[in-house]
Amino acid sequence: MSNSIATSVASLVPTPAPKIGFVSLGCPKALTDSELILTQLSAEGYTTSKSFEGADLVIVNTCGFIDDAVKESLDTIQEALSVNGRVIVTGCLGAKKGADGQDVVSAVHPSVLAVTGPHATQEVMDAVHKHLPKPVNPLIDLIPNSFGEAGVKLTPRHYAYLKISEGCNHRCTFCIIPSLRGDLVSRPIGDILTEAKALFEGGVKELLVISQDTSAYGVDVKYVSGFWNGRPIKTRTQELTAELGALAKTYGAWVRLHYVYPYPTVDHLIPLMAKGLVLPYLDVPFQHSHPDVLKRMKRPASGERNLERINNWRAQCPELVIRSTFIVGFPGETEEEFEDLLQFLREAGIDRAGCFAYSEIDGAVANDLPNLIPEDVKEARRARFMQVAQEVATERLARRQGAVIQVLVDKAIAMGKKGGVGRSYADAPEIDGVVHLLPPEKISKTYKVGDFIKARVVEVRGHDLIALPI
Ligand code: SF4
Repeated sequence: MSNSIATSVASLVPTPAPKIGFVSLGCPKALTDSELILTQLSAEGYTTSKSFEGADLVIVNTCGFIDDAVKESLDTIQEALSVNGRVIVTGCLGAKKGADGQDVVSAVHPSVLAVTGPHATQEVMDAVHKHLPKPVNPLIDLIPNSFGEAGVKLTPRHYAYLKISEGCNHRCTFCIIPSLRGDLVSRPIGDILTEAKALFEGGVKELLVISQDTSAYGVDVKYVSGFWNGRPIKTRTQELTAELGALAKTYGAWVRLHYVYPYPTVDHLIPLMAKGLVLPYLDVPFQHSHPDVLKRMKRPASGERNLERINNWRAQCPELVIRSTFIVGFPGETEEEFEDLLQFLREAGIDRAGCFAYSEIDGAVANDLPNLIPEDVKEARRARFMQVAQEVATERLARRQGAVIQVLVDKAIAMGKKGGVGRSYADAPEIDGVVHLLPPEKISKTYKVGDFIKARVVEVRGHDLIALPI
């Protein structure tokens, strides 16, 4: 064989695919950043390694929001450096600077190969190309876990997060996300709907819409009309929700909305829920009820009459479930303001409430507020809050005793013959309760992960339901 033939034959043989270890820390928004990077890596022919040892290089997508998350991120980088030695860091912690202007990650771990902030797929890819060149002949059609135009997803195949915008225009005093992720940038509506369709085509049964502020979608582009399937559609939450709902219906899938602020525009989403186009579930991060605390927090929609608004939503859509998070012990919070919060929790009937005792975050404006609340008072308030939250949740959940509900199956032991675990419309994955499914009574009946089944609630246990498939 001549040299030239040998060379051309060799060029047709794919080089072994370089292996990348990947760790994704932090919130669902960070997870979608990871998915974008993994999609690009897969498209270029890189493969992933399950261990640091087996990888040619490791990427760590970090979280930098609270002190515990910073520590977890720095520890993970340390472990990747010790075991593998070649590490690229991305994510929120990557955007954090110390007092000297140097990024925190390089200051602690100077041997990392590169550091980028969040939402930086191209910068990460540039760093990967520099330190681990692309394989010669990528077999781009063979992307595992890929959903075509929607790319690679890290969630189980039957549900997926759909990010509709990046960044935030608000400046809540306890939050550093805008300084890490920048101002609001809405994705084109056509791109979002194309991604949603690809996900449904790929078998996704539940789409979880996420952003920093879902109600603000389109504000940055002044609600300009985009196009999808040749039709003009406004870049606005209500139009997007209606389109997603209609699309989901054709695939028999669910759409769930997260991070919705209680602006008047949300009133337009409730009829879509009442009609069954999207799940009657709202994840609204109220953070507090008292107008003075909300003002000190500089919360969006702080002047809204939230109780009135919630009552109005429930009148239109009685099955509406509301999840929310709250902060207690914010600087200056008086006992009276805290009592107002407990009262709000009861009157609003918040179905699922999470609570944090306020803690300082490096770089947050609230750190300079006077009248810090002592730790023991904060903790005592958190405990009191959780007790009321539990009472309210139990009372609301008890209404479902005996009801026939639709359940999306997350786990099915022996095809459901030995029972399983699923979720109803009231339960978002990872954060809410679950439905424990009993084995079906009929021997012939089976179910599997990703199926929708009907089940009768036979018991309410804590935040969970026990149900019998029918
Ligand atoms: S709305 Fe407030 S808490 Fe949420 S990301 Fe924006 S600044 Fe942070």
